[in-house]
Amino acid sequence: MEIKGFIPNSLLDWEGYIVSTIYLPYCNFRCPYCQNPSLVFSPKSLSTIPFEELQNYWKKNKKWIDGVCITGGEPCLYRKLPGLLREIKDLGLKVKLDTNGTFPRRLEEVIQEKLVDYIAMDIKAPLDVASYQKSTGIRREFYLGRIVESIQIIRNSGLDYEFRTTVVPTLHTEKDIEEIASYIQGARAYYLQNFVPRDTLNPAYEKIAPYPREKIESICKRIAHYVVKCGVRGK
Ligand code: SF4
Repeated sequence: MEIKGFIPNSLLDWEGYIVSTIYLPYCNFRCPYCQNPSLVFSPKSLSTIPFEELQNYWKKNKKWIDGVCITGGEPCLYRKLPGLLREIKDLGLKVKLDTNGTFPRRLEEVIQEKLVDYIAMDIKAPLDVASYQKSTGIRREFYLGRIVESIQIIRNSGLDYEFRTTVVPTLHTEKDIEEIASYIQGARAYYLQNFVPRDTLNPAYEKIAPYPREKIESICKRIAHYVVKCGVRGK
């Protein structure tokens, strides 16, 4: 498992914490709006950052770095993920894990072994095969069952967590977002992220105008009663 990206410190990736973010390559989805196409398609073109370098950085800056966000790509693709998280936890750092929810067994493992403090899971579309296929660019139906399972695992984990959807005009209507919110009724947090038409996996998506921020905010207001906290991210 190679690390293909590193942000030494960020105030944006985990609300309330100063964190580093690391990027793991490859993904089993092909979301047309994905903004990390080189990480998904051609990670070999990106240089690998030795883990020892990161360990040294964290040891030196431990006083003011609270934790590490693990993102991708899809971090849960890797059998060795628990080992990586253990090494980070051993340094006394908190761990936030981003996932698309297609590896429920891996999630169970890292939760049971107390290797993660916060989970952020994407819900790409309403939980039906056609919508999910369209939003992820993948034709496999069996992923849907895994996603449903991951939602349950995260909700029952006792951990702090969020679900989130990148809202794209050609993929999501207001009704779709409401359907997702009603599916996760009672969840701790649901964030709507406005789509950014830049460096997209499908270049045609660079020509799609995102919804105005006000529209996303109004959707958020309308669905807020379904969840404990509903928020908007992005311009
Ligand atoms: S946006 Fe989609 S394709 Fe890109 S990393 Fe996330 S899940 Fe994978």
